[in-house]
Amino acid sequence: MPIYEYVCPGCATKFELLRSFRQADDAAVCPRCEQIAARTVSACAVFSRDDSGLVTSVAGTGNACGGCSATSCSTCSS
Ligand SMILES: [Zn+2]
Repeated sequence: MPIYEYVCPGCATKFELLRSFRQADDAAVCPRCEQIAARTVSACAVFSRDDSGLVTSVAGTGNACGGCSATSCSTCSS
């Protein structure tokens, strides 16, 4: 089962949940302030974007951004 990372929009708490793919899009509640947290995909952290929008992978994992390809990377781009 993959581990998903969530970031709370209210208190910026990051937390991880072990979930199945079927649960991946379910709402995750912040353990601190109980707001609905947005899912972020940790695999995106190995990618960086330069000014031209080119996405380059940072040396290391070589993992594709599989979790984002189905939706968008907007939550991961910062
Ligand atoms: Zn919170």
